[in-house]
This record gives sequence, C-alpha cells and structure tokens, in this order.
Amino acid sequence: MIQYDYLIVGSGLFGATFAYKAKQAGKRCLVIDQRPQLGGNVYCADQAGIHVHTYGAHIFHTANKEVWDFVNALVPFNRYTNCPVANYKGELYNLPFNMNTFYQMWGVHTPEEAQAKIKNQQSEIKNQLNSREPANLEEQALMLVGRDIYEKLIKSYTEKQWGRPCTELPAFIIRRLPLRFIFDNNYFNDPYQGIPIGGYNVLIEKLLEGIETRVNCDFFAHREELESIAEKIIYTGPIDAFYGYRFGQLQYRTVRFETEVLDTPNYQGNAVINYTDRETPYTRIIEHKHFESFGQAVYDNPKTVISREYSTEWTPGMEPYYPVNDERNAALYAQYKSLADQEQKVRFGGRLAEYKYYDMAPTIEQALKLAQSEF
Ligand code: FAD
Ligand code: UDP
Repeated sequence: MIQYDYLIVGSGLFGATFAYKAKQAGKRCLVIDQRPQLGGNVYCADQAGIHVHTYGAHIFHTANKEVWDFVNALVPFNRYTNCPVANYKGELYNLPFNMNTFYQMWGVHTPEEAQAKIKNQQSEIKNQLNSREPANLEEQALMLVGRDIYEKLIKSYTEKQWGRPCTELPAFIIRRLPLRFIFDNNYFNDPYQGIPIGGYNVLIEKLLEGIETRVNCDFFAHREELESIAEKIIYTGPIDAFYGYRFGQLQYRTVRFETEVLDTPNYQGNAVINYTDRETPYTRIIEHKHFESFGQAVYDNPKTVISREYSTEWTPGMEPYYPVNDERNAALYAQYKSLADQEQKVRFGGRLAEYKYYDMAPTIEQALKLAQSEF
C-alpha cells in the first residue's frame, strides 16, 4: 500500500537535500540507509571530543552562491581554508604550487624569477613533445611545472594514489591543481569555503529534521516491500547494484584509513600533510581537529586524532570511493544509464548512481535541480 510520495535510498547529501526540499513541498518521504548512521560519506564520528571524518576528509568549497546560501541557512560555516603541506623525505613544501613552494624549492623570491625557472625546466618536455599536446599526466605535469616539482611533489604521490604510472594516467587529473605566482596557500580557487560549525552531522540533522528515516536498512534486502510503499523512488546507491550487476561490475579506487587517538594536543600543526615520496606507504595524514579548531583552541583538547590514508584497489565489499575514469567503466556505465533513463518510477542521483566524482556542492546542486523538476 502506498504510504509515501518518495522513498529515498541513501541519506548522503543527495538524498538528504532532496528529502529536505520534498518535505518543504509537502511530500511524505521515507529515507533509508544501509549504514548504521545517516549522512553518507560526510558522516563524522566523535572520538576524544573531535569530529573524525570517517569516510575521508571533507572540505566544503564552491563558487555557487545559491548552494552556499542554502547550506549556511541551515548551519553557519567556519573559516577553514584548506592549505595542505607536502612532506618529501622530510622537506616541507606548501601546496598548491605557489610562490611559497617555488621559494622552498629553488630559493627564488619574485614571480619573475619563479616563471624563469619553470620556463627553463619546461624546455626539456617542449622539445620532446615538438608541439603536440601532452598525452598523459607525466607530460602534462612537466609542461606545467617542470621536472623538480614533478619528481618531488607529483610523481610518487600520484602513483600511490592511483596505483598506476603517471605515463598511463589522463592529463586532466593534474590540471585541477592551481598554479599561482603569488604567496597564496589556499588549495581551492572557489570564493566560498569552510566546515559546518558543529560538524557535518549538524548539516545532515537539519536537512532530515522531521523526516522519517531508517538506518541499517538495505534496499535490496527489502526491495519488494519498499518499492510498494512509495509512489516514486530516489535511488542514490550504486547503479550497477540496482540492476543486479547484469552487465558487470563498475570499478572504483578506495582508501583504507588507519585512525589513531594520540595523547598530544597538536601532532602535525595542519589538517592535511601529503607524503609525496615513494617510500612512505600512505598518501597523507589527516589531523581532524584542525578542521574545526583554530589558534589557541587547538590546545583546549589535550588529545588529537589522526588518520593515515592508504589508497588501494577496490574489491567488492569495500567502500566504493573514486570512480575509475577509463573506457571500460565509461562504456559499462552507459549501458546501465540507458536502462535508468527508461525508468518511470525511479530517479537516479548522486555520486554512486551517476558513477561520477561529485564534490559536495555539485551534489547538492544536482539534488536541488531534481527537486525543482519534480515539484
Ligand atoms: P554518499 O554520501 O555516498 O551517500 C550514498 C548513501 O547511500 C550512503 O550512505 C550509502 O550507505 C547509501 N546506500 C547505498 N546503497 C544502499 C542500499 N542498497 N540501501 C540503502 N542505502 C544505500 N567533496 C567535497 O566537496 N570536498 C571534499 O573534501 C571531499 N572529500 C572526499 C573524500 C573522499 C575520500 C570521498 C570518497 C569523497 C569526497 N568528497 C568530497 C565527495 C563527497 O563525499 C560527495 O560529493 C558526497 O558525499 C556525495 O553524496 P551522495 O549522497 O551522492 O553519496
Ligand atoms: N597531486 C599531487 N601531489 C599532491 C597533491 C595532488 O601530485 O601533493 C595530484 C594527484 O595526481 C592528484 C591530483 O593532483 O590526483 C588532484 O589532486 P586533488 O587533491 O584535487 O585530488 P583528490 O585527492 O581530491 O582526488
């Protein structure tokens, strides 16, 4: 018997944002999640009084004022600005590549000196390419910043992260990183950035306020019943699972987190330190308290929580994190998508159902768009 206008499968930002708008429009919703808690990948666990980003560090950033105003109306955001530091065999460099990095790398003091240094280093790859476009990440990185930065800050980090040589990775991955000839360590170019005050769980609680939810509820374990109680379904889980993997399984990269509570108030002095050498097995260390504590407040809690991140190949049963950008997976996704496009009762959205690496703000934007088209 129909009891709900919408069954929403998944309580991540896509499902929660859609549910919020649906409730405002007077729709009856049920949100389910297979995990023991709500919030999808932005969920944070409390450890030693610190919000620990259980499914990977999340920094909200956007150029979309509508999305920024939408989230800030629910919970104000703090002033956190992501300024990761790279550790290469004990040498520290600011990221993204900017005047601080160039000073640390070459001792240059002015933009003109830095540009001259990079130009000089580019000549090697320019000669090699002989005016053809860079065909892979290595060629692209050498064209952008030259060999010194490539060797110390890009090559091994990227190979650890993706598990493949830079010569076999697409060039666009590295074009995401800003290159700046000013002293500016802000990792993002977006005008709006921060972390919800009180943590991401507050944002999820606000989005789902007054909405019926069920955790530990796997859609596929109760499919028939769940499909029969709602007029429509918003599905945010993996698209291949929805179709019983009939064309095959989509692949992902995943991350294993090794999290520790330490008896020190300030372990590394920054939220994010990337380990860019080959020998260190993890890619980075996150110190969670720095997302939400600043200045003297860092010392108010005598403990800290850190997570070492190990980037690994995904096998079924692991958390699916990063879609794999290759032809096989793109073709497989296209097959599932053509089935999804024919559904009358089901709408697919979010990073798993669209097999797309969406940041948080675009996820919210897409959910708001879907809500607008629905009612
Ligand atoms: P999810 O948050 O994954 O939610 C999907 C939900 O569906 C999950 O809770 C899952 O349990 C549930 N579900 C799946 N299958 C079923 C089923 N069968 N039955 C019931 N429930 C089911 N974005 C940023 O903007 N900044 C960042 O710094 C950032 N860092 C990231 C770091 C990592 C490691 C990862 C993986 C992502 C990061 N992102 C970041 C992206 C961000 O996580 C996503 O944009 C956002 O979480 C997408 O929300 P979603 O609702 O689509 O998916
Ligand atoms: N990257 C790098 N060294 C770093 C940080 C990033 O070489 O210290 C490269 C790496 O290839 C990565 C890409 O830049 O995949 C994009 O970085 P970003 O931090 O945006 O990646 P994310 O972790 O968000 O996927």
